[in-house]
Amino acid sequence: MIHFQNHLFAGCTADYRNARYVIFGVPYDGTTSFKPGTRNGPRAIREMSYNFEAYVPSYNIDLAKLPLIDLGDIDCGVLVEDVVTDVQAAVQDIIQDNKVPVMLGGEHSITVGAVKAARPDCFVVCDAHLDLREDYRGTCYNHACTTRRVFKEGTEDIIIIGARSGTEEQFEFARSLLLFTADEIKKRGMNMVIKEISDAIENKRVYLSIDADVIDCCLTPGLGTPEPFGLAPQDIRELITAVAPRAVAFDYVEVCPFDDGQTATVAAQLVREFIAAHYAAYIQS
Ligand code: MN
Ligand code: MN
Repeated sequence: MIHFQNHLFAGCTADYRNARYVIFGVPYDGTTSFKPGTRNGPRAIREMSYNFEAYVPSYNIDLAKLPLIDLGDIDCGVLVEDVVTDVQAAVQDIIQDNKVPVMLGGEHSITVGAVKAARPDCFVVCDAHLDLREDYRGTCYNHACTTRRVFKEGTEDIIIIGARSGTEEQFEFARSLLLFTADEIKKRGMNMVIKEISDAIENKRVYLSIDADVIDCCLTPGLGTPEPFGLAPQDIRELITAVAPRAVAFDYVEVCPFDDGQTATVAAQLVREFIAAHYAAYIQS
């Protein structure tokens, strides 16, 4: 049969009933205060997903043979509270159906809805920013408040990786959580930090959230709130490899694709690595 192309994530050929991984996009950037455009993130990540071979050699896994589905994008309203509610409902359904949600952002505010639905033991977030503001520009659901919101909604076991931006108060609060700044990771090496993170996670059910700006903005400049002196794509790849087996849900957010495609390319590849790492652990168990 002739192959027809679509605009969904590459290799997503399963029907919903048989799918184990459910990709969906949330093209929302309504609370963005600096450079807007993360609403175009899901589309850019999907576009770049066609750049890669379906085969992932590091796991000896052919993604085209995996039970993946891409549901498309949530039709987002204007108000952030409504979007968070819609995300929560979507993720609730996916998890209830015993599948793993893989959410593409969109700005980081959407993560709050997904975490509320997933109810993990531990929230692991890679982000240049602490996102620990109580509220910002009139709403506690602003993307600058994501990690604080997650804490307030009941997930208090939080690991922050790659941070290098936040107010004095935010850093004070972050130090009461498990915090690995970008500087500390640079000094100690990602392997040492991953060992510590793995010990902290043990057998907990983890929600893994990657804010694209955790990676140095000089490497992936398609970001709404760029920060230099960050991590390398390889660091995040290793982190995903270590944490994916414990993950009940995953998101990759804050891709603002006005660069030459670097940021969405890294995002697409890391989404694939997450799925491969998770599936490799799943078939071994
Ligand atoms: Mn963030
Ligand atoms: Mn950020």
